[in-house]
Amino acid sequence: MTATSKRLFGTNGVRGIVNKELTPEFVLQLSEAIGTLFGRSKMLLGWDGRTSSPMLANLASSGMISAGCNVYEAGLAPTPAIQYLTKAHSLNGAVMITASHNPPEYNGLKVIDLDGVEIPPEKELLIEKIYFKKQTVLRDWNALGEKLSIPDGIDDYREAIKEKVDEKTISESKFKIVVDGASGVGSLVTPYLCRELGCQVITINSNIDGTFPGRLPEPTPANLGDLCRIVKSIGADLGVAHDGDADRAIFVDEKGQAHWGDRSFALIAEDFLKNNPGEEIVTPVSSSQLIEDITLRCGGKLVWTRVGSPYVSRTMISRGAKLGGEENGGIFYAPHIPVRDGAMATALMLQVMAINKKKLSELMERLPRYFNVKDKLPCPKKLKTRVLKQIEAEAKGVRVETIDGIKIWNEDKSWILIRPSGTEPIYRIFAEAKSEEEAQALASRYKTQISKIIERSGRRS
Ligand code: MG
Repeated sequence: MTATSKRLFGTNGVRGIVNKELTPEFVLQLSEAIGTLFGRSKMLLGWDGRTSSPMLANLASSGMISAGCNVYEAGLAPTPAIQYLTKAHSLNGAVMITASHNPPEYNGLKVIDLDGVEIPPEKELLIEKIYFKKQTVLRDWNALGEKLSIPDGIDDYREAIKEKVDEKTISESKFKIVVDGASGVGSLVTPYLCRELGCQVITINSNIDGTFPGRLPEPTPANLGDLCRIVKSIGADLGVAHDGDADRAIFVDEKGQAHWGDRSFALIAEDFLKNNPGEEIVTPVSSSQLIEDITLRCGGKLVWTRVGSPYVSRTMISRGAKLGGEENGGIFYAPHIPVRDGAMATALMLQVMAINKKKLSELMERLPRYFNVKDKLPCPKKLKTRVLKQIEAEAKGVRVETIDGIKIWNEDKSWILIRPSGTEPIYRIFAEAKSEEEAQALASRYKTQISKIIERSGRRS
């Protein structure tokens, strides 16, 4: 095991099945390690609506207090609210108890830095080092941290979002909208926010319930059948679906059609660039060509990042970029906070509809159409780098991006992305083209090419 490979943290915090991987003992010791890293500090603590969240929050609070942290408990809150409040109150960091979109039996800890963004990989490794080498520093009785509260945090967060959009124009549109809170913490913010923005609001799955009785917390089209039907049948203008911790928002148009995050991001980017000409748009390399098409058409610059929301946030901060987005419905708006935020995304989408004075389906129809295929291919761990190098060598004279795996464009703007999985002996393959058949063909062609390279490399090694 090298010092550079993580054992507990995944792409977005530490996750696991409650009382299997995520036992009380583990969460307490991990929280002591987190507290040891942050030292004498002011830490915010929030949690989502999962059945296990209050239990794990108590453990996290105790662990950090024993290491000398003052812990401000915000209670039930969306992840982006905790991130916003950490920065707005100049705290040193935060822990959010959530497993985001994972099934009900999961939970996790997201560790937030003082700027509101997930801690960088170096700090994750430091926490793991403290944990595994038992370097936790617990304080004496007279030097423990305190348990404190943070009043009106959610109200402050909601106000901050409203300030970033054109409240008057949105209110004048008198939208009718349906909010699907996934039985999660999004229901604490988005319905109230939309009502304050002059919308008539209908809610579904808005009772916080960690058994997720209405639908699973991941806002995939397959899970949004109820929302789509209700939006259409009551003649609403918009449907909004969050994931379990409300950092993502997927939108449904007035015809009851759910649109994947790339398309809503494209509309928000288009609107943003009209008012902010020449600005940069930040997105992971796995995003649709649509984002680049719209960005360039509107005179913006596109910046690709590695896949994973912390990379988008950190790239935005280092470049001073104001808008970022992901295909899964994550919108990052730096004038508010450069992390993905489902309520902020909703306010921006209402603004797009209000300013353009068009139905969402009409706005979506104008966007270029692309089709995606996702696939995977086994590859021995020791060959992963060699295979990528070989693919790059064979891709002469074409546009290539190697920020995360390898992305290769064809002249017609169709593309393939080949990324080694960080945890499994596989490559993830993403293909996009103007038709489903072309995308399939592209994925098949590269799968064959990779298999041949693996075979040749295997023989040589
Ligand atoms: Mg989430």
